[in-house]
Amino acid sequence: MFETGGGGSGNELVDVAGLAESKRVLACAEYRQIRVIGGFHAARVAAEASGSVGIPGESAANEVSLALGMSEGRVWFAITLCEDLDTRLPLTDTAFSAGELDLAQVRTIHHLLQNLSDEKARIVEAALFARGPIDRLPPARLSGRLRRLVARYDRDGFAERSARAKQERYISVKQCDDGMAFLSGELPSLDAATIWNRLKEMAIGDVCAGDGRSMPQRHADALVALADGSGRLTCGCGRNDCATAIPATGKRGPLVQIVVSDGSIGFGASASASASASASASASSGSSATIPSIGFLPGVGPLDPETVREAIAHSATQRIHVSAVDPVEPAPDIAALRYRIPRALADRIRARDGVCRFPHCPVPATSCDIDHTTPFDHANPSEGGRTEEANLACLCRRHHRWKTQGRMTVRQLGDGLLRWTMSDGQAYDTEPDSPTFWAAGA
Ligand SMILES: [Zn+2]
Ligand SMILES: [Zn+2]
Repeated sequence: MFETGGGGSGNELVDVAGLAESKRVLACAEYRQIRVIGGFHAARVAAEASGSVGIPGESAANEVSLALGMSEGRVWFAITLCEDLDTRLPLTDTAFSAGELDLAQVRTIHHLLQNLSDEKARIVEAALFARGPIDRLPPARLSGRLRRLVARYDRDGFAERSARAKQERYISVKQCDDGMAFLSGELPSLDAATIWNRLKEMAIGDVCAGDGRSMPQRHADALVALADGSGRLTCGCGRNDCATAIPATGKRGPLVQIVVSDGSIGFGASASASASASASASASSGSSATIPSIGFLPGVGPLDPETVREAIAHSATQRIHVSAVDPVEPAPDIAALRYRIPRALADRIRARDGVCRFPHCPVPATSCDIDHTTPFDHANPSEGGRTEEANLACLCRRHHRWKTQGRMTVRQLGDGLLRWTMSDGQAYDTEPDSPTFWAAGA
């Protein structure tokens, strides 16, 4: 237990150990409550099993809800979670009971694995824990990791569920107060990325620096502009000579990058067999490369094979082959002593990293700089960091600046693993986001 000090100002938590301890204390309490609720329900089920009650234990959730002032939905979640911890998530149970994982993290694991069979759930859970410590992964990163593992270890189930989930797509508009409405919906991730990237592109490309709108305001206006037929934002600078008044001509680049693995890289044991099968099935796409057994939307997660096939046929999508080698690229040992990063190498780094490599940063690799981990020495290239895969990593602008300012140090451990050391000595490892990394090992 940590000392709570006086007044609860929070000032007592002065170091990282104190922060970690506060999480452990809370997580243990959460575990205890989940177990008490589950135990209450189980006892009621046992007591009513032989009686005349319709569904044994049915009223238990209602009683718990009244006693705790908790919605029945949350009570049922606790009951279901208890059953899962007992029957198919043994490692999660151990970590949760020790306070290493908190309820938000456990809920993520439970949620992502709920549609898997008990056997597959146990396999994915084991793979998740085998990858190294997960106690400091926020739920969003944890779900990313789980999605990759599910796609790998439950390939058929993943494809089936993706196809089914796509049928549930929708957009809804709900009127709210003050003349506003809430627009929401659920779309296939590739479609959502296409819309989002287009809105971001318009927010930057359609207006000049004199436009007074914030980025979120521009994104909102851009969506309306797409719908009302104008197709582009009108700059709000008010100047007659605004450079954006004349639309830029020329073909726009692809909106979305997807990373695809060659059949040879594969995913899981059955990868090469199904990869060659899908390659011959989709020869009509006109590509000479093998059609991937799995694709990957950087910063989002795996895509099922059907979506990959559709995406490859779609002009708004750029495909990055993780094994791509540019024939006009200089030989690696020559390129390594030049500062400029060859295009194909840059593509491979972006494909490998998926997102900014600072811990927990979600900025997609497509919007990142590629940083020389050990700085390039312009005066004497053979003495500095080399321009090669083992010394390059994607960093967003902010974290690139932090690194340059020396707010933390980073080194490459091999296989794309990065170890960050903060000014207080705490170290964080981050792994690549890519299918190649996730296909290898474990
Ligand atoms: Zn303007
Ligand atoms: Zn970042």
